[in-house]
Amino acid sequence: MADLGFGLMRLPLRDPDDQTSIDMDLLKAMVDEFLAAGFDYFDTAYYYHRNSSERAIREALVERYPRDRFRLATKMPIKLLETEKQQAEVFDEQLGNCGVDYFDNYLLHNICRSYYATSERLDTFGFLKGKKDEGRIRRLGFSIHDNSEFLGRVLEKHVEDTDFVQLQVNYLDWDNPDTDARRCCEVCESYGLPVMVMEPVKGGALAKVPESVERMFSETAPGMSSASWAMRFAGGIGCVETVLSGMTDLEQMRDNIRTMRCFRSLDATEMEVLERAKAIINSSVAVPCTGCRYCVDECPKSIAIPEFFSIYNDAVGTPSKGLPPQRFYYLNLTETHGRASDCIGCGRCEDSCPQHLPIRELLKDVAKRFEVF
Ligand code: SF4
Ligand code: SF4
Repeated sequence: MADLGFGLMRLPLRDPDDQTSIDMDLLKAMVDEFLAAGFDYFDTAYYYHRNSSERAIREALVERYPRDRFRLATKMPIKLLETEKQQAEVFDEQLGNCGVDYFDNYLLHNICRSYYATSERLDTFGFLKGKKDEGRIRRLGFSIHDNSEFLGRVLEKHVEDTDFVQLQVNYLDWDNPDTDARRCCEVCESYGLPVMVMEPVKGGALAKVPESVERMFSETAPGMSSASWAMRFAGGIGCVETVLSGMTDLEQMRDNIRTMRCFRSLDATEMEVLERAKAIINSSVAVPCTGCRYCVDECPKSIAIPEFFSIYNDAVGTPSKGLPPQRFYYLNLTETHGRASDCIGCGRCEDSCPQHLPIRELLKDVAKRFEVF
């Protein structure tokens, strides 16, 4: 049965405009409830919440529970590395940030073609293998946002150093050629490697499905949330060891706990319903952004890319006569961020988008819809 992991990239915030303003009281309450429910796996990363997530979990978890009471994972931020020496500096900093002397799981973060080239140049696998030999890492893996062919190439070279792979898997993108989740899982299975699933609810998008889909779900499985369908899909895949969920509040956590504690895979009837749901959802989402925010730090014009896409999706999904009501939120955001039309087309955001979205083109659509003055 698949385990539930607490992903620490969407922590509760006191100020929604400040990714570092983590609500520590709420986070502590969530940690307590998660552990009390029998789960113990926490997944952070160096640059989640603008480098605040590792320190937050230290305060909420590590300083409040004995080390054998939890398992902690973090990741080497390959995109920030330029020299071999930096790997050691970052790794030591992470041990300090998290307040631990070893990590249960450690990952090379977001292997894609350009970051993989960096990790090969710096021999990051070799460096981390050394840390494993020293006892600073229990299991070594990597997260990847590329296709199965590329995953196969990485594993062909590094399978001996790899204990698990972290993949983006959700029912909507299962057969999407860009994310290639089904075949990526098959590649891992062929190497006998367990998979940790990230984004099972697609950044929350599969928790807020169209009303017609919600009705289909609740008629088929009364009392089960839309998010639970996504969690059950991911957890039902044979090679999946853990389903990570980036939980923001206690309600989401309780729902996930209910689903995963008495886990039941989707049966044949439910899978048929899911196929129909996919068709409806795919036709209703204009921009399939998961809100992961990987693009945000890259933008020299401080454009609020995920927020813009979210309100754009709302506007497209609820057409109105005249100016869209979401325009008000858009204008509010442009007081502290660049406008969609400020994009200079540098493409840096697209290089880090795990969904491979054509962000520059999509921002033109956002500007067309909201920048009518
Ligand atoms: S292409 Fe536009 S949105 Fe993307 S990083 Fe450059 S300026 Fe920002
Ligand atoms: S545009 Fe891409 S990188 Fe940016 S938040 Fe959305 S999915 Fe993530």
